[in-house]
This record gives sequence, structure tokens and C-alpha cells, in this order.
Amino acid sequence: MKIPVDRLFGADVEAIEVNQVVRLAGDVGLRYPEGVKVVATISHISHGVYMEGYVEGDEAETCVRCLEQFGRHTRVAVEEAFSEDVAPEDAMFSEVSPLVDRSIDLDDLVLQLLEVDEPMAAVCDERCKGICPVCGSNRNVSGCDCKEFIVDERLAGLARLLQERENN
Ligand SMILES: [Zn+2]
Ligand SMILES: [Zn+2]
Repeated sequence: MKIPVDRLFGADVEAIEVNQVVRLAGDVGLRYPEGVKVVATISHISHGVYMEGYVEGDEAETCVRCLEQFGRHTRVAVEEAFSEDVAPEDAMFSEVSPLVDRSIDLDDLVLQLLEVDEPMAAVCDERCKGICPVCGSNRNVSGCDCKEFIVDERLAGLARLLQERENN
């Protein structure tokens, strides 16, 4: 979705208010099944426009420890300058985004912001106990004694080995 901002370059329009639900394609679209809301004001600056507001949505995350799905509320600030002085090929090296065709690509902007906001490893709760690697049960739901069992087993094996060596 593109927002034309050409009218900000004239004398008549001071600002453009954006209040828009954006539905994204692909992987991010799956993470935000309800889409995200963009609420912002776009105003004119020298050789470009400035967009200020926020992006908000509910992300369906998967906990890296227990693999359960959980909802994460996301709210990211939008403070983005777009300039016609920045060439699209220089976008990577510039704090200011290029303004192409006097329009803002909302999907692109939202994708970038959500990517930066995405946690490297999402956990449902800091106290999440995760999944038992032995019996596969969710330790948050039901406790098990598997871990101690493994440690004991290995130590028992080692002890047996040492015992045998001593005996030989
Ligand atoms: Zn978890
Ligand atoms: Zn277990």
C-alpha cells in the first residue's frame, strides 16, 4: 500500500493523517494474522516528508523454550524522514529514507520496523521451564524427573566404567 504525499509539497495541505490497517504478505503476515495498525502524521520538510507515529499489532509468537504459541503486543514508534535527495541505491547507508515518486510505501516501512522489533528468541514468560528433552512434556504444565534421571544415568555409567578399570 502506498500513500501519496505529493500534496504536501503544495501550499494547501499541512499534514496527512494516517490511520490504516496494513495486512502483510508472507512470513510477517502469518505472524500478524490481524494485520497491524499504522497511526501517524506525515508533514512536509525540506526536500521531503517526515512521518511520526506508531505501528501497533498483536503478534502470534512461538516460545523457543516450550514451543507453545503466545500473543505478543507490539508497538513500535515511527520517526522516519524521507527525502528526495537520497537515491534509492543509497538507502542502506542513510539515516533518511529515499522518497520515491512522492509516495511512501507503507508495507515496506512496516516490514522494516517489525523486523527490527522482532526478538531473537521469544519466550512466553521469563520463567518458562520449557520442554523436557526426554519425555517431551511441557514442564510448565506437568513436572517430571527426567533431567535428574539422565544425569544419574550418565554418572552411573561413568562410575561403572571406572569401577571396571580399577578391577582389571
Ligand atoms: Zn514457553
Ligand atoms: Zn521429562
